[in-house]
Amino acid sequence: LGKDDPVLRAEGLEKRFGGLVATDDASIEVERGTITGLIGPNGAGKSTLFNLVSGFYEPDAGSVSVNGVDVTGQKPHAIADQGMIRTFQTPRKPEGMTVREALLVGPHNQTGESIIPLFTSPSTVEQEERRSLEQAQQMLERFEIGDLATQPATDLSGGQMKLVELARGMMAEPDLLLLDEPVAGVNPVLADKLAGFIEELNEEGITFLIIEHDMNFIMRLADPIIVLNQGSVLVEGPPEAVRSDERVIDAYLGG
Ligand code: ADP
Ligand code: MG
Repeated sequence: LGKDDPVLRAEGLEKRFGGLVATDDASIEVERGTITGLIGPNGAGKSTLFNLVSGFYEPDAGSVSVNGVDVTGQKPHAIADQGMIRTFQTPRKPEGMTVREALLVGPHNQTGESIIPLFTSPSTVEQEERRSLEQAQQMLERFEIGDLATQPATDLSGGQMKLVELARGMMAEPDLLLLDEPVAGVNPVLADKLAGFIEELNEEGITFLIIEHDMNFIMRLADPIIVLNQGSVLVEGPPEAVRSDERVIDAYLGG
């Protein structure tokens, strides 16, 4: 594992849906230790890029490496195992589970299966289960939502769900966490709280790549910022430079 390798390197990613080109020769690098922002107008290809690098879509061209390891074409769980975990813009709320149990549905496999092994002895399973639930409880408490632990996951508000998603992602102890619009539909107080948690985790060594529509949120939190437009990278730089860049302003005005 090369410490100098970027945590994530995507090169020349192309994804077509029929005649529509969602990403077109998109190349990005996420340096270790950064909070990197990914912005761009609606339909720019941001979520598609997340789906490509995390293995949910197979690219028509291009390559992806995580921690210096080529993961192009690999399944989501295999890519997660390399240390990169993603959240969803619209997370599914697992039915028939408490919030705490929902945390144990591994982002590793991302298929909705429990991470608790099934083929070991019942007493071991019980022990494992208790230990995992304790870990989940601690994670929820860390994000100040410990009181939600035994509520049905389906009862969560949008804002609570975003916090639970962050907690769930952290259960996998990732090097890099991809967040897709973490504060969309979240009230300003909770958004501030989320920003604080992200900064804290970053100081502890977690790298972030964050798609966000809320400019104030992302400009305050992220450096560098990558601007995607019509499926490829338009501009990359520090927030101040990006904010005042004519090409970025034009792209947002629908140029
Ligand atoms: P963003 O997240 O930047 O708003 P998306 O990556 O969601 O943009 O979408 C980029 C383009 O690709 C859009 O035109 C969108 O309609 C299209 N697209 C995304 N996913 C699919 C899909 N699964 N099938 C067909 N078209 C898609
Ligand atoms: Mg999107």
